[in-house]
Amino acid sequence: AEEALRESETKFRSLAETSAAATFIFQGTRLRYVNSATEALTGYDREELLTMNFWDVMHPDFRELVRQRGLARQRGEPVSRRYEAKLLTKNGEERWADFTLGVIEFEGKPAVLGTAFDVTERKRAEDALRKLSCAVEQSPSLVIITDSNGTIQYVNPKFTQVTGYTAEEAIGKTPRILKSGETSHEEYKRLWETIASGGEWRGELHNKKKNGELYWASVTIVPVKDEEGTITHLLGVQEDITDRKRAEEALQESEEKYRDLVENMSEVLYALDKDGRITYVSPVVEQIGGYTPSELIGRSFTEFIHPDDLAHLMESFQRTISGDLEPSEFRILTKSGEIRWVRTSSRPVFEEDRLVGLRAVMMDITERKQAEETIKHLAYHDALTDLANRTLFQDRLTVALAQARRKRRMAAVMFLDLDQFKVVNDTVGHALGDRLLQGVAERLTGLVRDGDTVARVGGDEFTLLLAEVDRAEEVAEVAERVLDALRQPWVLDGHEFRITTSIGIAMFPNDGEDADSLLRNADTAMYRAKDQGRDNYKLYTPAMNTRIVERLALENSLRHGLERGEFLVYYQPQVDIASGRIVGMEALVRWQHPERGLVFPAEFIPVAEETGLIVPLGEWVLRTACAQNKAWQTAGYPPMRVAVNLSARQFQQRDLVEVVDEVLKETGLEARWLQLEITEGIAMQDVESNIAVLRELRQMGVQIAIDDFGTGHSSLSYLSRLPIDVIKIDQSFIQDLCTDPNGAAIARSIIVMAHNLKLKVIAEGVETEEQLAFLKKRRCDEMQGYLFSRPAPAEAFEEMLKQGGRTSRGRRPVEASR
Ligand code: C2E
Ligand code: CA
Ligand code: CA
Repeated sequence: AEEALRESETKFRSLAETSAAATFIFQGTRLRYVNSATEALTGYDREELLTMNFWDVMHPDFRELVRQRGLARQRGEPVSRRYEAKLLTKNGEERWADFTLGVIEFEGKPAVLGTAFDVTERKRAEDALRKLSCAVEQSPSLVIITDSNGTIQYVNPKFTQVTGYTAEEAIGKTPRILKSGETSHEEYKRLWETIASGGEWRGELHNKKKNGELYWASVTIVPVKDEEGTITHLLGVQEDITDRKRAEEALQESEEKYRDLVENMSEVLYALDKDGRITYVSPVVEQIGGYTPSELIGRSFTEFIHPDDLAHLMESFQRTISGDLEPSEFRILTKSGEIRWVRTSSRPVFEEDRLVGLRAVMMDITERKQAEETIKHLAYHDALTDLANRTLFQDRLTVALAQARRKRRMAAVMFLDLDQFKVVNDTVGHALGDRLLQGVAERLTGLVRDGDTVARVGGDEFTLLLAEVDRAEEVAEVAERVLDALRQPWVLDGHEFRITTSIGIAMFPNDGEDADSLLRNADTAMYRAKDQGRDNYKLYTPAMNTRIVERLALENSLRHGLERGEFLVYYQPQVDIASGRIVGMEALVRWQHPERGLVFPAEFIPVAEETGLIVPLGEWVLRTACAQNKAWQTAGYPPMRVAVNLSARQFQQRDLVEVVDEVLKETGLEARWLQLEITEGIAMQDVESNIAVLRELRQMGVQIAIDDFGTGHSSLSYLSRLPIDVIKIDQSFIQDLCTDPNGAAIARSIIVMAHNLKLKVIAEGVETEEQLAFLKKRRCDEMQGYLFSRPAPAEAFEEMLKQGGRTSRGRRPVEASR
């Protein structure tokens, strides 16, 4: 029996040894037997194990479980003999093992026989699979698994949530249940081709839910293959992207709207990167710049800016970046090389505090700028001649003076006044007068250097700025050239005429430090040039100002003199040459100045004319002379005419005719005894209205005489058209009569022609017997002059009348000399 037992033990041992399962026996807790598979499973060798406790090999988490089971068994409860538990190997590794424990008798005592398989790998795989299925079940994406034919085998809860199909409803069908008809046939074709060739397909499908609603899905379909590479399943993963699609659509829509707006706007929108390169520009740019957006994108914005405006642009960029959004204006160069003005408002674009570029709007303001330029031009230029006007001239002068001061050089201001412009204007009309002024502007412009300025500052007044001169002689030369150029005959509309000019010059810094005083002094010098016979130039001297002051004083005392009755009328007899009898008299005004004594008209008539005082003065002379003449007639002297001088200014008074008429009525003098003397100048000016006035006067019975004949520019034939009675040959011809053959010839022809025109001739300024003899021979009608008598006060004249109009030589009344 012992042998049999040993034999069966040996058999058991060899059986146990060859078993792949770990086989062991323990009694109580002590291991009593282990096979080699146990060694392999635990990592301990047999000797070690046989000294160890069974629990030492169990993982601590399972010791209690195993013990409880053992206890339950001992109590006879029905417990599975198999369970899975973890054990700990010698080197601390955890292993899953599938234990089977059974009670046996070992060496006469109960013991536990156990077998264990290592199931770690299986356990791990199971674990992974569980996690995987968990992930799939809870995935936020829709998961569909089909077999290789496309029959649905699995769908996850998300699928149900989105599509509305439960797993039961879906399984066994194909994903075609989701087809909406919105996705094109070609798209599906591509999908199947990709998958059939083993590839992965991605795309977006517009799918339909169970309830008919549509949803957008981003879909990935992956073929799943076995080890041999045969496709066993298809895995489909869908993402519901409806919301994103909607947002995209909305965005696209608004972008389209925006683009539409931008591209139809007349303003150009553009964007620059931080280096100033154009990254976007709206198509309207072509209308302004001629370039299409594609020609511009990528190029530097500054390439298209007018070089003169670059600095300004850079500065405005800087301002924009620092937050000043004030628009700026500058010029751009178009594709065809034109210059256009634009106005842009820009805004800096920052990304996380970093400047990445600018966005801007640009508007074409060329027309507005041109209008502004025109307005500016008009504001600073004379419309008729396009020369600078007074304002611009003053600006330029101020600038030139600052420069001259810096460079320590001189500058000159010339003041020009045309001498006979008014006459021209009145005789040939304003249209031609305007053309003459334009011609003058042209000639002047042609004479000056580039840096100089010509301006028109008044009707026939021009100014010239000569910047940077070194000597007064240079300026004088220019003045000579100007005089000469303007003296050249003008031919306008077939009329030929000549004009002369008077020029005053003031030099910086001697004659003035600023624009105003230079202009004023040049003007003063110009008046001086006029006084001195016109057609010349005068450099300003301080004495001229003294003269002006004197003039002012004179004007003042003239006014007072008039109020205080300081004026007198002298009478100079006019004698009939044939009979030697006094037939008339010329009234000549004198001023009995309280301090200066007797003042002659040459000194105050010009001032009286300038200031207008001549009007009341002239009227006073007229009244006095008429009254005196009437008084002599009343006193019984033979009636004779009285000649009264009229100045241009009086002639311009509208009421001249009434004044004359009134004076005649007041004084009771018959009109036929009054003669009015006018100069050629008056006769030439404003011809039409003057002729009308002269006619009226003559109709009243007043006679008209042309004074100082021969000094003006009028011809006798021209005068013949005027309603006049008498010609007074100017004294200058009479003085030349016996010394200059020319003078004699002129006087002779004046007498002949005047007689032909049935005009009476009076010779003025006759001083010698010789002159008288000549005039007598040439049948001149009357004479007036020192030879017979100087102008005399009324009492002295009355003496002459008493003597019957003859004064013996040597008893001529002598006028106080100047
Ligand atoms: P006028 O009208 O040519 O007057 C003649 C001038 O010749 C007067 O000068 C007279 O004294 C001067 N005279 C006369 N005989 C001789 C002569 O033999 N030899 C020379 N050398 N001179 C002679 P007066 O009085 O000094 O007047 C100068 C000018 O002042 C006048 O030139 C006239 O244009 C103006 N005038 C004088 N009185 C009046 C007036 O009441 N009204 C206006 N508007 N002008 C006046
Ligand atoms: Ca006179
Ligand atoms: Ca005269």
